This record gives sequence, C-alpha cells and structure tokens, in this order.
Amino acid sequence: MSKLAIARQVADDMSSASWIRAMFETGIKLKAELGQENVFDFSLGNPNASPPAEFYAALRECAAADDPVAHRYMNNAGFPETRAAIAAFLSEEYGLDFQTEQVLVTSGAAGGMNVTLRALLDPGDEVIVLSPFFVEYKFYIQHPAGKMVLVETDRDCLPDLAAIEAAITPKTRALIVNTPNNPSGVVYPQELCRGLGELLARHDSPQRPIYLVTDDIYKRLAYDVDKCPSPAEFYDRSIVVSSFSKDLSIPGERAGYVAVHPRIEQRDELMAALIMVNRTLGFVNAAAFMQRVVARCLNALCDKSFYKRNRDLLCAALREYGYEMPPPGGAFYVFPRSPNPDDVKFVALLQEHRILAVPGCGFGRPGHFRLSYCVDRGTIERSLPGFKAAAASLQRS
Ligand code: PLP
Repeated sequence: MSKLAIARQVADDMSSASWIRAMFETGIKLKAELGQENVFDFSLGNPNASPPAEFYAALRECAAADDPVAHRYMNNAGFPETRAAIAAFLSEEYGLDFQTEQVLVTSGAAGGMNVTLRALLDPGDEVIVLSPFFVEYKFYIQHPAGKMVLVETDRDCLPDLAAIEAAITPKTRALIVNTPNNPSGVVYPQELCRGLGELLARHDSPQRPIYLVTDDIYKRLAYDVDKCPSPAEFYDRSIVVSSFSKDLSIPGERAGYVAVHPRIEQRDELMAALIMVNRTLGFVNAAAFMQRVVARCLNALCDKSFYKRNRDLLCAALREYGYEMPPPGGAFYVFPRSPNPDDVKFVALLQEHRILAVPGCGFGRPGHFRLSYCVDRGTIERSLPGFKAAAASLQRS
C-alpha cells in the first residue's frame, strides 16, 4: 500500500469531520443563493457582542507607547505584569490565592489546553471527557497520544458522578470539565462541583495523580447566578484553562492563560513543564501586544445582558413550540432535544427553513442539536417561524 500524502491520523480526523464541512458548505451555498440576511446561522460560537470600552481604551494606550522592548521575545510564560494581573483576577474570581508564578499566558484557551495536555500525558494515558463535549478535546488529547474516555452526562447534561467514578482506571491522568458548557449551555451547580472535587480526591494518590483540567472559558457568561462555580475551587490538583475570547469578545486575538491551583503539589515542576511546552509546541509566548492590552482591562466584560436577552427570547419561543432542552444557564448555546430522533435529518429539515444548526452527534450526543445564539436579535426573530414550522411538521407526521 502506498504511503498517504498526509499523516493517517489527520486523514482519519478529516474524514470523520467531513459532514461538518459539508454542512458549512451548504450554509455558504444557501447564503450565496438567498442572501446573508435570509439565512439564520446558529452554527458558530463566534461571539458577536462588542468588546467592552475598556478594551478599546487599553488598545489605544498600548498602541500609543513607543517602546521597542515591548515587542521582543519575553520569558515564555508571558510578561510579569500580565501574569500578575491574571493572578490577582483569578484570586478574586476563585477565592484562592493565585501567585504570578502560577500563571502562564497562552494563545487562547485552545493553546492552553494543548500545552496542558502535552505537559501531563504520556502515550496511552487516559483523559475522561464528559459527553456531549467540545469536539476539539479529542484532537488535543490525541496530539500527545493520550486516550479520550467518554463518559455520558445525565439527561440534563449534568455530570453523573457514579459513571465518572466507574470510568477511573489506573491509567486515568485527567478529567476535563467545562462549565458553562459547550454545547449544552448548562451550568454545573456548586454542590455538583464540590462532588466532582470530592470524587477525584478519593481516587487521587501520589502513585496515580489525577488532574482536574477546568475549561472555564465561559465562566463569566452565566446568566442566572452571580458567580458561576468552578470545580477547581474544590480540588487541589486542578489546572484552570481559560481565555478572554468570549468574555472580552476577542477570540481572534488569541489571548488566554493556564493557571495551576495554589495548593497543587509539585506546582513549580508543573509550571516549568507548561512553560517549556508552550515554547516547544511553537507558541513560544502569547502575542506580546495583546498581553499588554488584556493586562489593562481583564476585569471588564462584554455586554452579557445581550446574550441573556437572546437566550430568553429564543428559549421561550422554542419551548412554546414544544422543544425541550437541558436548562441553558450560560455560554451562548442551547442544546434542544431533536423532535426527530435522527438529529442529522432534523438539522436538514431546519435547513429547509433556512436555519443552520449543528447536529448533536457532532458533540457525541445524537438526538439533539446545538444552536449558538451569539447572533443579532433580528436573526432570532426572523428564524422563529421556521423553528415553529419544523416542529409542527413532525407533530403532524
Ligand atoms: N473551549 C471551549 C469549550 C470552547 O467553546 C472554545 C471555543 O469555542 C475553546 C475552548 C477555544 O477557545 P479560544 O478561542 O480561547 O482558544
């Protein structure tokens, strides 16, 4: 057999994701045919709230300074002022005492997840991921030859502690948790976060350390609680990964971080590994200019009431039409159960009504579909008759 032009793993990944590409292509075709404004695109998690005024002010301030040193390489962990600002921000947000030395500035949360998993995993190490899940985790785990172990959440997409416990083996190295969650929008209650921490503490040992990696990228986009809890608050061997992509609404700028829990054992060794891997994976350091900008505005927040209003409008209408969904408390996703158990077919039916959604099977949970409501309000309003008609046509059949 002749050798493939590209790596077999990448070829396999591309073919397993080919239907997603097909869906995006259909979307592009529909928009070209019918006009952008006549297609209701709920397929992408690309934040559309404006970045806060503080971000633009910080941008201007940094751009105005002629400082040649500011554009050079720095310590691979990032500028001390940025790391210190993030540590102070996290100490307040998590009620823990993060120090500058426990923060690595990264190229977004995606960069942070890759760095973390590369620093932790030996080939064959297992990482528990709760399904439905952000599909990119699969690839991030695969890069260092780790093994993803999927564990189903319950009907409301909340972690099933007994199922997680049953999935722990001598090879378990980490559990990834994401709340508020992509794709479900579900926010894990505090007691469940505590339960996750207690569960891991029962199985963690020096012989088999189990890390909790919390992807907290949507933490500040929770709509029904003052502060969204993170399981990292309840377990010492935690690593927080996050970014400013969603809460400052600047995903294209690739600014994020990894922070190790202040009480984690061997944290200096772990930090040294993260910093080294940030370099060797080719990130070298997070973009210098953005590091300086975010250090000046990381307490600011995009207008989250915009997303809340979108959620309320969309979900109230969907419920009225008979759709059911796990309660969406944050991020900007809702994950209704598909009226037709075949979610791919139902998403095709929505397309007939010019609505673009992503089938749940793309996130490991068929029978659902994901809607990203980071769209303008008019898109939601104009899409509603389509959602109504799609549900009604199935009720009739
Ligand atoms: N984690 C989750 C759950 C996401 O939804 C995303 C992006 O959509 C990321 C990580 C990647 O974020 P970033 O843009 O900061 O790399």
